Amino acid sequence: MSYVDEVIERVIAKNPAEPEFHQAVTEVLDSLRPVVEANEELYRKNAILERIVEPDRQFKFRVPWVDDKGQVQVNTGYRVQFNNSIGPYKGGLRLHPSVNLGIIKFLGFEQIFKNSLTSLPIGGGKGGSDFDPKGKSDREVMAFCQSFMTELCKYIGADVDVPAGDIGTGAREIGFMFGQYKRIRGMYEGVLTGKGLSYGGSLARTEATGYGLLYITDEMLKCNGESLKGKTVCVSGAGNVAIYATEKAQQLGAKVVTCSDSTGWIYDPEGIDVALLKEVKEVKRARLTEYAAARKSAEYHEGKGVWSVKCDVALPCATQNELDIEDAKTLVANGCMAVCEGANMPTTLEATAYLKENKVYFLPGKASNAGGVATSALEMSQNSERLSWTFEEVDGKLQQIMINIFHNLDDAAKRYGMEGDYVAGANIAGFEKVVDAMLAQGVC
Ligand code: NDP
Repeated sequence: MSYVDEVIERVIAKNPAEPEFHQAVTEVLDSLRPVVEANEELYRKNAILERIVEPDRQFKFRVPWVDDKGQVQVNTGYRVQFNNSIGPYKGGLRLHPSVNLGIIKFLGFEQIFKNSLTSLPIGGGKGGSDFDPKGKSDREVMAFCQSFMTELCKYIGADVDVPAGDIGTGAREIGFMFGQYKRIRGMYEGVLTGKGLSYGGSLARTEATGYGLLYITDEMLKCNGESLKGKTVCVSGAGNVAIYATEKAQQLGAKVVTCSDSTGWIYDPEGIDVALLKEVKEVKRARLTEYAAARKSAEYHEGKGVWSVKCDVALPCATQNELDIEDAKTLVANGCMAVCEGANMPTTLEATAYLKENKVYFLPGKASNAGGVATSALEMSQNSERLSWTFEEVDGKLQQIMINIFHNLDDAAKRYGMEGDYVAGANIAGFEKVVDAMLAQGVC
């Protein structure tokens, strides 16, 4: 059995009931086969694969808080510190009822390679809780965040582990958590990113993941003789990534005709009205039915269906495994030329394989949504310098980072004779730097 297969088998046996983690490890290691085969003796001797799939450490803790009726509620908190070979752990905090250890591990594992691809000094980690901020009052969210940080603050620090936002963790939650960290630790440091602008946040961080997704998509299309101008784009999700992906796609001359949330989706042939979408989702925190009610050209549909709309470019920006094999078949049948992931692992392995077989350009999330974490790292730099850069400065750096990521993964794929396989390219480029650092640092 090959070294890669041995390790995948061991991961599945050692980590039962963690299907998302198995999926992420399988996808990454599978595409690393040529690199692993070329360096097998060295990697085996140093147990590189065994070490890279085993988190440095993982924390699981009780999060008790009191709701508005005076009832004590209990959630579970997680922080997985996966690999700090190239810098302090860095990765978001997800607050969603679906959160469990396997999901946090899959996200933390992917984060190692994503962070490496940014070329900035950040290691991989991830955390969160099964707490659902939806429908909670601000006081309840604060009570949860304070309790969560009361435990989490023992394990993080500006040079140790710097969490950020993710699904369910926006500016409000980061603010409450930062306040609690400061209070308990008695120090003012850049321990979280995604902070408000008045207390150490970076301009352009809110826009960064969505904008970055479009910068890299644009670069990939240009390098393949195409352009975003005049293209029809389908976006899923209606959260942070989806909103700013839609905004930048429209600025670059494309027309975005869909968005979705966890209950339904919108088809708007006139093009999504971003200002209205922001009002519904960022200000009112309401359902998409409110978007449809306010806009004549929009149709609202219950359930899932974004990928049934004919488009040139598909940008899944909601959640994991939201684009399956049936969706991939529909996209191909409708002539879709590119799928670029805004969310983490939104495309199933089967769907990814089908898209690649059918020559659809496919950019994996660890490359195409890396703009968020890259800008978080720029926020860390600004905090260390005690300076704030202008929007244009941060946005310019973000654009250059995304362009570099595309060329690094494109070159890596070419070096191993897999031209156009951007999944392999991203994994290889991210992996090589981490392994180099691991080997240099000895057995640790
Ligand atoms: P948000 O919470 O802001 O938005 C998530 C969106 O996806 C919402 O519209 C939500 O619907 C929808 N959604 C969530 N879960 C489901 C589900 N199970 N089925 C259907 N729709 C769902 O999160 P973000 O935009 O920040 O994150 C989206 C994705 O991008 C995640 O995979 C995240 O890990 C990834 N990502 C985010 C980064 C960031 O900087 N924010 C950076 C890199 C990756 P509803 O409105 O109903 O809740």
